[in-house]
Parts: sequence; C-alpha cells; structure tokens
Amino acid sequence: MNFSEKIIGWYLKNKRELPWRETKDPYAIWLSEIILQQTRVTQGLDYFHRFLEAFPTIFHLAEATEDEVLKLWQGLGYYSRARNMHAAAREIVTTYGGVFPDNYSAIRSLKGVGDYTAAAIASFAFGLPYPVMDGNVIRVISRYFGIAEPCDKAEGKAQIQKALYSVFDTKHPSEFNQAIMEFGALQCIPANPTCKNCILKDSCVAIEKGMVKELPVKSSKPAVKSRFFNYLVIHDGDDTIIKQRGPGDIWQGLYEFPLIETSVAISPGELMKHPDWKYLKGKHSWKIIKIHSGIRHKLSHRILHVTFYEIAGKINRLPLGAMKIKKENLMDFAVPVLIEKYLKTNKSLLCFY
Ligand code: SF4
Repeated sequence: MNFSEKIIGWYLKNKRELPWRETKDPYAIWLSEIILQQTRVTQGLDYFHRFLEAFPTIFHLAEATEDEVLKLWQGLGYYSRARNMHAAAREIVTTYGGVFPDNYSAIRSLKGVGDYTAAAIASFAFGLPYPVMDGNVIRVISRYFGIAEPCDKAEGKAQIQKALYSVFDTKHPSEFNQAIMEFGALQCIPANPTCKNCILKDSCVAIEKGMVKELPVKSSKPAVKSRFFNYLVIHDGDDTIIKQRGPGDIWQGLYEFPLIETSVAISPGELMKHPDWKYLKGKHSWKIIKIHSGIRHKLSHRILHVTFYEIAGKINRLPLGAMKIKKENLMDFAVPVLIEKYLKTNKSLLCFY
C-alpha cells in the first residue's frame, strides 16, 4: 500500500463525524474553514451551526450588517476573519451572482482566503487536485520525511511542499486532504504521539532517526509585547459610554469602553492626571467607585495588562466617535472577549445606579 492508501484507509476507520464533512456545499465548507483557522473543532462547531442558522446562504450573509456578523462571531477572536468573510460574501453576490466560484484562482482571490483555505474549498467542494498544507499536515510530512529545515521559513516550506506533492493523491484529493489533516490532529499529534501503533511507522524517518520530538522545527517566535489598557466604565445614571474601535489595530469594528492606553502600568492618581482623562472629565465631578486591576489578557503576540475603572458621574462631553447608550443595551454590541468576560463577572454593571 502506498502513503495515500494507508492514510485514507486509516481515515475511514478513525475519522470524527463533523457536519462540514457531510456536505459538498462550498458555502458551508468555506464557513467551516474560516472558523477553524484559529479555533478548536469543539468550539468551532457551535459557531458553525449558529452562522448557518442566522445566514443560511451567501445572500443572507452578504445582506447582514458588519455589526450583526461581528456580534455572532463574538468570542472567536481574530475578528478580521469575520470581516473578510462578510466582504467576500458581498463580492460573490456582486461578481458571481451569489454562486460560489468553482476554480482555484477565483476562490484564492476572495478576501481572507489564503493558499490553505483555497486548496481546502477547491478539493472538498469541487474535487480539484490541490493539496492542503496546514499545521497538522506540516507536522506529518516533516516527521514522515525527516525534514529538519524550519517549517516557517521559505526553504523549509518548499521542502515540505515538494514532499507533500510526492505523496499527494490527485485521483482522490478531497479524501487525501481530509485524511492527512485528521491524521495530524488525532494520530501524529504535537506531543508524545503513539508511534508504536502508527500505520506509517515502518517508513517514517522521524521515528527511525529518533527525531519525533524535534520535528517540525520552528524558528524562534517573535517577542510577546505588553500593552497597558485603562478602561473607563462610566455610570451616568442608566447610561454608559462605548466607542467602536477603528482600523489598524486589534479588534477593528468591535465596541469598548473609553480607553486610555499607556506605555507602562499607572496608578489611579497618574491616570487622573492623564490628558485624556482631563478631556473626558471636563468640568464635571466624577468619582471612582471601583477598580478592577491586575487583569491579564493574552493575544497571539501581545499581553494586555488591563484595569477597569468604574466611575460614577455626569457626562456631557463625549470622546470623539463615542456614544452614550443604555447600560441594559450593552450586550447588543459586539465586544472583545476581554470586555464580554468583564461584563459577565460584573453583572451589576447592567442594572445599578
Ligand atoms: S510514526 Fe510517529 S512520527 Fe511518524 S507519522 Fe506515525 S505518529 Fe507521526
């Protein structure tokens, strides 16, 4: 048996039943692939169903507002995925009359669709012979062929791609891609795979050379940067203030409380001397009624050190682009997970004063 026969045979016995594997509908497959880009299958499943229920077709997604799409995406992170998918749905409606394109280059040109996602949609929905190369596939191929070049550098990527093409099954592209991805997710896992039970153990270079732990090789990770966020949670009677985040930074399009970002952690006294604080406060008397500090929120390359200042007072002057809303309506807005968690653990915010 060759590599493909072995791996597809393994897949048919061991695969998980997942809804996007039961369909050839490119819209559902696209949706699942975008959700799964940075999300575990168990978490993604729920979002997949929610999205298909709210937007059963490309037309429904294209007609939705960005706020509706972001609200539904809330909690998944990497919100550019949702914004790109929304823009691509509109493009499919205007350029292709709402029919999902059926060739690789048109699929690849959609906003938010990279090489991996284009290959996945092209092979799963249309049976086109494009191999996928995600993290799971990279691990299997690096180990099976004993490729020790860093997989996140051009040379390493090229070697892995060449090796992948050498075993790719052009007659069964969909099954091959599904099989090798599932094999990486369930069998050739990152830490301590059970190689002694593996169907590839007799020809796997990593096990022969004792390199399973070391492969795939990654070059050093970028340094994690710290950012310091001071949120002003304002209680103006039944009202509070929120602001939509702009482009060019994390969480574009999501809503948050007025934010004062500083380059280091600061004390409440220092915050009150900050120019943005003075501008916000104006002539009115405010009182800090609660401080929630020491909150750390991890993002991929950043750690946010966050303090929420709950402040009671009258607001007449709003920060640029901010809006006054009823506190009870806060949950209608798409907010970052950090703020969603804060609201959930401080429910009193929605109904006091
Ligand atoms: S033998 Fe081990 S390292 Fe090699 S493919 Fe199988 S699980 Fe992966």
